[in-house]
Amino acid sequence: MGEAARIDGKAFAEGLRARVAAHAAAFRQATGRAPGLAVVLVGEDEASQVYVGAKGRACTEAGIASFEHRLPAETSAAELLTLVERLNRDPEVDGILVQLPLPAGLDEQAVIAAIDPDKDVDGFHVINAGRLAVGQRGFVPCTPLGCLMLLQDRLGDLAGLEAVVIGRSNIVGKPMAQLLTDANATVTLAHSRTRNLAEVVGRADIVVAAVGRPEMVRGDWIKPGACVIDVGINRLPPTEDRPKGRLVGDVAFAEALEVAGAITPVPGGVGPMTIAVLLRNTLVAAHAHAGLDAPEGL
Ligand code: NDP
Repeated sequence: MGEAARIDGKAFAEGLRARVAAHAAAFRQATGRAPGLAVVLVGEDEASQVYVGAKGRACTEAGIASFEHRLPAETSAAELLTLVERLNRDPEVDGILVQLPLPAGLDEQAVIAAIDPDKDVDGFHVINAGRLAVGQRGFVPCTPLGCLMLLQDRLGDLAGLEAVVIGRSNIVGKPMAQLLTDANATVTLAHSRTRNLAEVVGRADIVVAAVGRPEMVRGDWIKPGACVIDVGINRLPPTEDRPKGRLVGDVAFAEALEVAGAITPVPGGVGPMTIAVLLRNTLVAAHAHAGLDAPEGL
């Protein structure tokens, strides 16, 4: 068997962003306003600042109005909840995203619970988690929805395929398992207590790794021809030629390339999908708020 195909998440995400931009322009024509996303950042976390900046730029490029709220780390829970309430009522705001993690002392669950579920474009509100669990339409977390899109683009119908999701976080693993179940795959949700993980992975036609452990999934775990989606983003310790440290996924990429049928690289695989799906979710929210039919072809 030859080398695995590399799934180009960057190109797929660019296509999705272009489709969102076309729909956003049509939305503006129809309603006289752009879809709007409010992003709330509390404190000075360096990675969060980079993400928030990237989200703002991506919005602007897609014709989505971006409302950034940068608050000091000392912001009280009451102040933050007041802002969320204001954004809930703001007719220009279709989506609200509170960048996590919040500084210590602020209760993330309480803040997420305060967001109007119909503006919860991150899909973290328990109402949206519940909607996903019972098969109702709602907002699905961006990263797993992006993974599903890449899988369906690569494999078409997923019905009957064996899928193993490694990691059971509320943000990635659990919603991923639910999406795959809804797509009629036969799903195993593995985690740190799973016995014989290599053997479990070896059964899978689809492997989604969302663990946060550099190169944990080895090439010889993978069933030949399987489709591997690597969600992990891990920075290795700095070396002389890589002073910032190399970025690797949860899968040993070079090994997996020899065995898998297709695999997402890190970076350039799942990562770019997350923001593209955020824009997509914001566009969907805007249509719902304006009483328009959901945009098609996304
Ligand atoms: P969490 O830390 O919340 O969850 C990690 C999961 O991995 C847990 O369920 C844990 O199991 C499981 N796990 C830990 N060790 C093992 C092990 N040895 N064997 C099997 N399972 C194990 O992480 P997230 O879901 O938030 O993120 C996972 C990765 O994805 C990270 O690298 C993160 O950076 C990346 N990520 C990337 C995104 C993107 O845009 N591409 C977006 C979000 C995350 P248990 O529950 O038993 O503790």
